[in-house]
Amino acid sequence: MFDSLLIANRGEIACRIIRTAREMGLRTVAVYSEADARALHVRMADEAILIGPAPARESYLDAARILDAARESGAEAIHPGYGFLSENAEFAESVIAAGLIWVGPNPDSIRAMGLKDAAKTRMIAAGVPVTPGYLGEDQSPDRLAAEADAVGYPVLIKAVAGGGGKGMRRVDDPAAFAEALASCRREAAASFGDDRVLIEKYILSPRHIEVQVFGDRHGQVLHLFERDCSLQRRHQKVIEEAPAPGMDDATRDAVCGAAVRAAQAVDYVGAGTIEFIADASEGLRADRVWFMEMNTRLQVEHPVTEAITGVDLVEWQLRVAAGEPLPITQGDLTIDGHAIEARLYAEDPAKGFLPAIGTLEVFDLGDDPAIRIDTGVEEGAEITPWYDPMIAKVIAHADTREAAREALADALDETVIWPVRTNAGFLVEALDHPDFASGQVDTGLIAREGEALMPPTEPSEEALAEAAAALIGQDALSGFRLNAAPRRSARFLLDGRAITVDFAHAGDVPPSPTDAVLISEGGQSWSFTRWRADGLAAGGAGDGAILSPMPGRIIAVAVTEGQAVNAGQPLVTLEAMKMEHVLTAPFDGVVADLKAETGGQVAEGIALVRIVAKDAA
Ligand code: ADP
Ligand code: ADP
Ligand code: MG
Repeated sequence: MFDSLLIANRGEIACRIIRTAREMGLRTVAVYSEADARALHVRMADEAILIGPAPARESYLDAARILDAARESGAEAIHPGYGFLSENAEFAESVIAAGLIWVGPNPDSIRAMGLKDAAKTRMIAAGVPVTPGYLGEDQSPDRLAAEADAVGYPVLIKAVAGGGGKGMRRVDDPAAFAEALASCRREAAASFGDDRVLIEKYILSPRHIEVQVFGDRHGQVLHLFERDCSLQRRHQKVIEEAPAPGMDDATRDAVCGAAVRAAQAVDYVGAGTIEFIADASEGLRADRVWFMEMNTRLQVEHPVTEAITGVDLVEWQLRVAAGEPLPITQGDLTIDGHAIEARLYAEDPAKGFLPAIGTLEVFDLGDDPAIRIDTGVEEGAEITPWYDPMIAKVIAHADTREAAREALADALDETVIWPVRTNAGFLVEALDHPDFASGQVDTGLIAREGEALMPPTEPSEEALAEAAAALIGQDALSGFRLNAAPRRSARFLLDGRAITVDFAHAGDVPPSPTDAVLISEGGQSWSFTRWRADGLAAGGAGDGAILSPMPGRIIAVAVTEGQAVNAGQPLVTLEAMKMEHVLTAPFDGVVADLKAETGGQVAEGIALVRIVAKDAA
């Protein structure tokens, strides 16, 4: 075994790898960008090396800088994690050429599976069933349209170099083909630098079934059963589980056997995943499962496989990279219970899942020992707009699927995260949806159920009563009864917006004990502050306060403090979602409390500037 490991990644996966490496007694070296100087992975590692500015292209994707860091730190091996350089065959080659150990498959295996068309051609030769479609060289629009007709609608146009759910267009009608092709090509060229596409039959009632495979340098390739990742939003996984609901032994043997053949066909070494698409219109059937692609790396959702098999996949990766044989054979592996993982994102479901940024002033995922949490952040950390917004994975493992589902929903229900918005409430709704609960999930569930999965956008009456009670200093259950004949009302700021809570109140209102309170329910948190008639309250904003309407970057500040402005006059320009939003003065007045700075990143609901009436200034 080698003694030291550099982790060429960030966030939860860097922390996950460091944990196992440390348990194995290895010295760990983290790399980080300027945006990540205070990140958890940097502090967890024995040593950390700055590799460049925030943009990934200039840091986490800069192969030369990472190799320099390995040299500088004397690291013997490099683990790429997932994403970034993990499926970059040239990087793997340069690691090996530098005399270092690459924790991953041979560069040739990466290359063989890197492009979806070449991978499928190879799989056909290996006798693995692939999704029917066209893989040809001829990329002319006429030929592609003719092939789509031959395949039969609906079809899926897929970028051969695609990944991360990008570069795909479902087409239901031949008349829409030409335009879908053009837009898919544009996206593929922009995202992957390669506009070639393939055509696939769009599988109806689709379920995403994938198999964890593992190879060593001693000729053994085995599988660690399947995962079901059918709960997706825009072709991206949201909730994953193992084993797949409704999988019978014969189908499992067929699918896992095909996965092992696929891995053997490319002399696979290390951890990999073979992804299949299944037509589940009549349940999972061996003759309706087709190869889609192979991911030649550790997969985001590997923890569910670890839970049901008891194997530490990162430990196996490191041992195999060091040349050791796999410690067990296929017959030693069994499935223990059921595991489900949810991906927790910093994003706002109510705003079209817009990524959210800002400081995690409160970040509490509970401490239930039965729940595994893989995260790259902690309380006080800053979520920046530079990287993937996934902030944690929450994993439950239990004897049955139902018990795992309930445990995971409970854990997410109890999370307290503020002020950064997350999808925790959405995950709770998804886990509780009757189709998910019964295992009837296909990849279209979220798109179909959309609204039904949206968590509430307002706090419940119980939450309002609890907040009112806490702010005024009464016992919520005894002192306040909402919807009763209002005898008193209290005014608060809910996330900066004034609300009035009416309540039946028996006695005198005691002096207020607190200025602000955070109430959480269903995975969502609401902040309440005392309302003051004189403008800005603690943490909130009153009349004349200009709050950032969404997370973004300030690209212009048009005023200075003390300046007189007229209603409608531009104050601050915010860039968010590639659009500019000009914030203007609500009335004639004077600029006060100017907090906005050009170039600054702001979370949603932050007071940027305040306009005060002329006579008040
Ligand atoms: P998995 O298949 O392991 O569940 P994903 O497909 O979600 O993983 O991708 C793993 C990680 O890599 C994610 O962080 C994803 O955003 C990122 N990723 C994968 N492929 C690409 C790509 N082509 N472009 C940008 N990001 C990608
Ligand atoms: P990526 O490299 O972006 O992960 P995949 O080929 O793995 O691309 O496809 C991503 C997702 O798109 C799948 O998990 C599935 O939900 C959907 N998908 C892919 N191919 C098909 C198909 N032929 N029919 C139906 N859905 C598909
Ligand atoms: Mg995929």
